[in-house]
Order: sequence, then structure tokens, then C-alpha cells
Amino acid sequence: MSEKKQGCLYLCGTPIGNLEDITLRALRILKEADYIAAEDTRHTIKLLNHYEISKPLLSYHEHNRREKGPELISLVQKGFKVALVSDAGMPGISDPGADLVALALEAQIPVTVIPGPSASLSGLVLSGFSTKRFAFEGFLPLAKKDRKSLIMSLKSEERTIVLYEAPHRLLSLLQDLYEILGDRRIAIARELTKIYEEVLHFTLEEAVRHYKENTPRGEFVVILEGLKENPLKRDFSGISIEEHLKEYLLSGMSKKEAVKQVAKDRNLSKSQVYPFSVGLDIDNN
Ligand code: SAM
Repeated sequence: MSEKKQGCLYLCGTPIGNLEDITLRALRILKEADYIAAEDTRHTIKLLNHYEISKPLLSYHEHNRREKGPELISLVQKGFKVALVSDAGMPGISDPGADLVALALEAQIPVTVIPGPSASLSGLVLSGFSTKRFAFEGFLPLAKKDRKSLIMSLKSEERTIVLYEAPHRLLSLLQDLYEILGDRRIAIARELTKIYEEVLHFTLEEAVRHYKENTPRGEFVVILEGLKENPLKRDFSGISIEEHLKEYLLSGMSKKEAVKQVAKDRNLSKSQVYPFSVGLDIDNN
């Protein structure tokens, strides 16, 4: 009697440009897989042809993940080895890979990772900014209003911020960042690991000016320096809680946000601060 094959889902990192950036293990797993699930099969076929790998390709992307996800899981349950690859880099980073992992965990099927490059980390390490703590935000929302409110929420972020953006939206993203965050240092990593790799170090104002004059082309990672000296962290012991709240209200915060921030600055609970906000006449709500 033949033993039942043990299926597995492999999250397989692939190059973000330079085809040499693939691990020996990734090549072996791609060769051993029964199926390769790819975001864009036309794209992945170039990588497979380069390494003379010929495997049945299945498509799994943002627009078919609801139907295709369960099909991929069922293949693994039947004992097949399924390798998931992204168009570039690590599956699960700004692509629907994370949904498939959640399904795999729910179905209690084996899932493992073959680590490879990611544009996010590659851009971050070339930025020259602190890598000690960073926040990956990926693509910001497309709707202007949602994007602006997300940028507002990054105003006092002290960690280095890593973003992805499509070339035709880069200038508008930089303009929104400048308008909301003010001027600060930024690194823009373009076409990483490819022939025209370039990392430009600017301030946001300079970046806006540069891309007004030079149409962005290629793939971009945008890395923003975190708020260096957080003004919200200054010593507030010399002012009263009301004065402290008023400063934030005058800077444009809503009463709710100001109460939250003052509580954080003073190591108090929001309910301890809230009574001081009652009756304050500046309210941006
Ligand atoms: N899963 C990928 C990863 O691990 O980096 C990211 C996929 S996301 C759909 C694609 C975005 O990654 C691009 O729009 C661009 O912002 C960024 N990107 C991918 N390759 C890049 C490269 N070679 N140079 C700069 N940015 C890149």
C-alpha cells in the first residue's frame, strides 16, 4: 500500500529584480513542487524559464483569492506540494499571500517559508535611517481622504516609516506627506537590484521639487525618517493640564486626541485628563 504524500504550502521568496537573488532552497522547492501559485503567471514564467523549471502554474491574486484560496488549500490537503510566489519578493507582503496563510492555519495544513528578498527591507537598509525600529505601511489608501487621515496618524511616529508607491502616484503621495508632516528627511529607493537602481536622499520639499521636474519611472520604496525629536515628548511639568490640552487643541487636534496625547505625555489615564478638557473652548471636533 502506498503511503499518503504529505502536502505543504511553501511561501517562497523570489527576486525583486535581479534574478540571481534567489536562494538554493527556493530553487529546490520550486523544482520539487507539484504546483506553483503565482500572482502573475506571465511574470513568474520568466523566472522559471531562467532556471529551467517547468511546473504547472496556478494563478492566485487579489481579484481571485476568494475562489482560488480554498482550491490551493484543498490541493495541499490532497498531499500536493504547493509553492506560493509573489510577483517580486516575499509573498504575503503587500499581496494576498497573508490571506492564504490564514486559510492554511485554519485548515491546519503544513505551511512553511523559504525566506527571500523584500523591497521593503532592501529600501530600509539603504535609507541610512534608523533600522532599530521601523513601521511598514506598504501602499497607503488610494482615496485621498483616507490617505490623508492615515498620514495624519503618522505625524508623531518616531520609527522609520517604509512605504510602497506606484510611479504615477509618487508625486501626489510626496505632496500629501509634505503638506501633513512638514519637511523631514526622506530616502527614495528606485528599481532596487536592477540596472537603474538608485537611492536618492532628500528632504520632502526637495523630493516634491525633484519629481515635479522628473517624471517618476520604475518601482519605488519611500522611506521616511521618524520624528526625531518628538515635540510631544517635551517636559510638560511646568504647565498645567489645561494649558497642555490647549496647546494640542490649538495645533489642530480634536479634543479626544488631545486628551489621549496628554494622558500619554503625563503617564495618566484618559479618565484622569478628561475632566480638565470639559469647558475648554477650543475644539476642532
Ligand atoms: N512582495 C513584495 C516584497 O516583498 O517586496 C512587494 C509586492 S508589492 C505588490 C510591489 C511594490 O514593491 C512595488 O509597487 C514597489 O513599491 C515595491 N518594489 C518591488 N520591487 C521593487 C524594486 N526592485 N525596487 C523598488 N521597489 C520595489
